Amino acid sequence: MERYVRFCDCNNKISYGLVNGDKVTELIGTEFPYFRPSGIEHDLSAVKLLFPCTPTKAVCVGLNYKDTILEPGAEWPVEPLLFIKPSTSLLGPGESIIKWAMTKDLASEAELAIVIGKKAHLVAENVAHEYIWGYTIANDVTAKDLQKVDGLWARSKSFDSFLPLGPWITCGIDAHNLTINSFVNGQQKQKGTTADLIFGIEYLVSYISHITTLLPGDVILTGTPGGYGTSLDVNDKVEIEIAEIGKLTNHCKGSSESWNLAT
Ligand code: MG
Repeated sequence: MERYVRFCDCNNKISYGLVNGDKVTELIGTEFPYFRPSGIEHDLSAVKLLFPCTPTKAVCVGLNYKDTILEPGAEWPVEPLLFIKPSTSLLGPGESIIKWAMTKDLASEAELAIVIGKKAHLVAENVAHEYIWGYTIANDVTAKDLQKVDGLWARSKSFDSFLPLGPWITCGIDAHNLTINSFVNGQQKQKGTTADLIFGIEYLVSYISHITTLLPGDVILTGTPGGYGTSLDVNDKVEIEIAEIGKLTNHCKGSSESWNLAT
């Protein structure tokens, strides 16, 4: 198992690195798999971890867990329900999710994120694994009130800070049966396993590659298990844990901006 991080050192230099115990080995290069060791090592505790890749897009799947489909009113999907979050919604581990003035009702969604390692266009499902760099943890932050009133999800899913991602990319694991737990202020909110995905990892890479070319560093958010939707308030602490990957922690903070619709 390898853990890739993107980090900022004490000189504000941004690099990729490989975690080795409590150390980070700095890598030269900006794109997987074209990294090579620099010979420089940092203490993991002395660097600031950033979101671990720089996707051009995050392709997300809605309603992809068996337990969410069993909720009242939900129907079994024939095809994946997709939407896209912009790269400007990315947020690093430990950074603050902003409760913008336009929304009164925020929620977090714990999700396994697939990180693409190789340009993927029209990829067959049986070779889809060759295009995966690894896996990380995502929070598909959603403005629930806006999701309800909008026919499309572009607004409710796309605010700046609505895509916490990290803390690292874990490679060389089998991600088909990983436990996912989420907590708000220490209280458990979600519990699930990736074994309950309706559309699985390789299927999603293949399916999405037939719609849009996936580039190295792009991410696929695979959907969230049941128990999602608890409202997030200012100062709340959100933790998402996925077995064999780790834990992503963020807090929620208010916005100093006000929102007034011009009339
Ligand atoms: Mg989601």
